[in-house]
Formats: sequence, structure tokens, C-alpha cells
Amino acid sequence: MINYRKILNNILMGKRLDKKDALTLYQEAPLPELGDTANQISGRFNKTGFSTFVIDRNINYTNICQTQCKFCAFYRKTDSPDAYVLSSEEILRKVEEAYNAGATQIMLQGGLNPDLPFDYYIDILKKIKSKFRIYIHSFSPPEIIHFTKISNFSIPMVLNKLKDAGLDSIPGGGAEILVDHVRKTISPKKISGTEWLGVMEQAHNAGFKTTATMMMGSVENFGDRIMHMEFIRSLQDKTSGFRAFIPWTFQPGFTELGGTKNSRYDYLKTLAISRLFLDNIINIQGSWVTQGKDIGQLSLWFGANDLGSIMLEENVVKAAGTSYQITRNEIIQLIRDASKIPAERNTEYNIIKIFN
Ligand code: SF4
Repeated sequence: MINYRKILNNILMGKRLDKKDALTLYQEAPLPELGDTANQISGRFNKTGFSTFVIDRNINYTNICQTQCKFCAFYRKTDSPDAYVLSSEEILRKVEEAYNAGATQIMLQGGLNPDLPFDYYIDILKKIKSKFRIYIHSFSPPEIIHFTKISNFSIPMVLNKLKDAGLDSIPGGGAEILVDHVRKTISPKKISGTEWLGVMEQAHNAGFKTTATMMMGSVENFGDRIMHMEFIRSLQDKTSGFRAFIPWTFQPGFTELGGTKNSRYDYLKTLAISRLFLDNIINIQGSWVTQGKDIGQLSLWFGANDLGSIMLEENVVKAAGTSYQITRNEIIQLIRDASKIPAERNTEYNIIKIFN
């Protein structure tokens, strides 16, 4: 039997995919067969058969960032004419708009701004929670490490203070590729892969659920992507704290790193391999935000069971010149047209409404 077929059969029989076989799949397996196996495995995780989405608003409280990642088109220097910091009033207004539009989740994410005190974040969380019944899924590991520096608190202390102020869960941003030689090239001033994993482990230990992301298509190779998944799978074996894995593609527009977008073929292949490799993470998210609606739709047949958020506001990918938008009705139709059953979920992946 051809080598890749044997590997796919072994996965279907319950064997854990190792790094060597994952590389063979990258090098040899045709996309349709990978997608078919990923879709079968996805069906085993997702017994309801629903393809889900969540309604949220991504509020980027500041674009001033001292980390200046080479792949990022969003950040600005403090003295830049379009640098900004949102006041708590502006943030509350955005939360109110989102809440009135049916959002169940708010994501606060922003640059690592040296001029904002830790109390700025605590104050915002408290104000949101005092006014709205909404889930706050915010502050990825680079922000958490930044908070330790501006507050002089340890990671567990920062996490506890954020939790007491109203933070519910933590997004997996800032992971990119957790292999340090890649990070040194694309984001030399950013936290290391070990630090990212350390924050996630401590967050899981503190009772937070989180997600994990992967940004593919910058300077990494297939082996680096597999190593990235291995780091996440190992931590999940220990903590079971990741709710979802979200692979997305580098958007080179207006970035220092530049280059070209990686192919949709490569995206779908990596998505399928991630479904096969991450045998301990229930949800895999398709990225219509970076891939557009058509590939987002197709992702539901390549291992994704979820399309993430319809995003009432998105600024980071848009800053790199990629701007796809979708309404609640459009995403429902998109999922229906893919012959799947749409359902709205909350951040905890509980189903809120099924659209038969
Ligand atoms: S990716 Fe995040 S940490 Fe890096 S420059 Fe952009 S905003 Fe700053």
C-alpha cells in the first residue's frame, strides 16, 4: 500500500499521528484524500454534525505597539499620526453596539503599549461586566506577559486579577509558529514559544479555557508547522485547556516582511493535517477571514467544524489589505450551501440556536 494511505488508514483506526508521518502526509498525500480523512475524523469529534459560528466584536483598544513584528501591518509607533488609544467610554460604546446586534462575545486585543497602566485593562473589564451580560474572551499571551512587566505582578497574579475583573477566557493569538528560529526572523522582540506555552499552561491551571492559533505562510517550513502542532498537542495532553485550534495564513500586505500569500491549496492541506494531528482538541476553526467565503465554506469539508466569528469589527487582517465581511444570514447560508447544518454557538461551544 502507498505509504500515505497506510498512515491515513492508521489514523482512522485510532493511531496517533507522529511527526514523521505528518511530514509524509504533507509531502505525499493528495489533497482530496487528506480532506476526506480529516472530514471523517471531524465527524467523530463533532457528533451533533453542526457547523458553528459565534457573533462577536473584536475591539482593538490601541494600535501602539513596541514589539513591531515584521509580519504585522496593524501596529503603529507612538508618534505616528494614526496611532490611537480607545478610552473606556469608546470601548463601552462599541460593546453596547455589539450587544445590541446580538453579540455574545467580546474580544479585546491590542498592541503592547508601554504608556497604558495595568489599571486601564482592569477598569475596562469591570466596566463591561457591570453593564453587559457578555462573555469576555480577551488578551493573548504577549499581552499577558506585557501586563506582568507594567504591573510587576507574576503571571498567576495577573491572571487572577484579570479573572476577578471579569475576564472569562483567553484567545490563542501571538502563537504564529512556536518554533524560535521562525520567531527570531518574523518577530524578534516578541515573547518566545516557551513563554507563549508557559502563559497558556498557567492560564489553564488558573481555570481559564483558551484557544490556540497558528499563522502559516511566512518563513516556516512544513517541519516547523508540525513542531508547532506538537507543542500544542503536548500541552493539551497535560491540561486539556484548549477549546479550539485556529490556523490562518500570513497576510503580507503593508508588512515589513512582505512576500506573497500562501496558496489556498496549502491552507486546506494544513487545515486537514491539523485535524488529523490534534487528536485531543475538539474544535478546528476554518478561516473565512483570511481565505474568503468560498474557501471558508470548503474548510468545512477539510476538517473544520466551526467558522469562528462573524466579527462585527475586525482591524488586524484588514490592515494588511485583506477585508472579507459576512453577516449572520450570509454565514448561515454559506454553511447550508456546503450541505452542513448551521448553528450559532457561544464561546464555550454550547449551541445557542440551530438553523435547520
Ligand atoms: S502582532 Fe501584536 S505584538 Fe506584534 S506588532 Fe502587531 S500588535 Fe504588536
